[in-house]
Amino acid sequence: MKIGFIGLGNMGAPMAANLVTAGHKVTGFDTMDVAVDGVAKAASAAEAATGADVVITMLPNGAILRTVAAEVIPAMTTGAALVDCSTVDVDSARAVAADAEAAGLLAVDAPVSGGIGGAAAGTLTFMAGGSDAGFAKAEPLFDIMGQKAVHCGSSGSGQAAKICNNMILGITMIGTCEAFALADKLGLDRQKMFDVVSTSSGYSWTMNAYCPAPGVGPQSPADNNYQPGFAADLMLKDLRLSQQAAESADADTPMGALAQALYATFVEKEDGAGRDFSAMLPRFEKRGRD
Ligand code: NAD
Repeated sequence: MKIGFIGLGNMGAPMAANLVTAGHKVTGFDTMDVAVDGVAKAASAAEAATGADVVITMLPNGAILRTVAAEVIPAMTTGAALVDCSTVDVDSARAVAADAEAAGLLAVDAPVSGGIGGAAAGTLTFMAGGSDAGFAKAEPLFDIMGQKAVHCGSSGSGQAAKICNNMILGITMIGTCEAFALADKLGLDRQKMFDVVSTSSGYSWTMNAYCPAPGVGPQSPADNNYQPGFAADLMLKDLRLSQQAAESADADTPMGALAQALYATFVEKEDGAGRDFSAMLPRFEKRGRD
């Protein structure tokens, strides 16, 4: 396929490289001067989109996605697909899909889970929203860039699945970290805490697969001085998106709201910026009740 790839950052560059390796013809555009082996450089987003069967975007946020979509949609060929893999707000995802469909294009929102490691290894999980035809067109590319793609429903459903998942993840990480900090103060050995919880009803991905305590459980960012991994800043972004969505859907999400407030304090007022989101544990362990 002829693919336009817009946004060649930490995630986009390795994803585009995997499409090239699989034999696709990829033309890329980024506002930073980025070179990716095998990816032809376009002078604008519209140029990257011209004549493409599929245009993939991997951008920082919904406002930028809307700007880029306004440029690329008029340049795309009828029947081509606009596939946005960024994590953005549900409203932007739906608005962009509506504009693309009105212009005779297929549209898919397909945010990913798996991080920079998954992007490089081609093992991302895609959660997709859009029509069956759009998903069918994008699926062979998801198979190259990832190991699993779930068609979640109509436009915006991919973003909805992503932010619901990450709201659970943020809340669970905080719960796991505060429980470790409490266990410390009660004199409980961290390894024993892991041995019990990881095989009891308090188990979770954050405890069992991504344990925030250094030296306990499988290798995780905690064992690498909390280098991300998944940065607290990105967790804050996703928690804000989930609260924005909860606001517009009138959903009661008190734990999500608390998790957002806590990550905002950690990233913006304390030392959380640039650290893994599991660094909530050293934050709690230093604190008392107020
Ligand atoms: P990044 O900041 O490294 O990459 C974004 C790229 O978009 C940058 O290279 C930037 O120059 C480019 N860009 C910005 N405005 C542009 C424009 N108008 N036209 C063209 N290019 C433009 O971010 P990333 O880590 O690659 O993340 C991309 C998206 O994926 C985000 O929405 C993020 O939330 C999501 N995501 C990231 C991770 C992760 O672990 N990094 C994991 C899952 C999802």
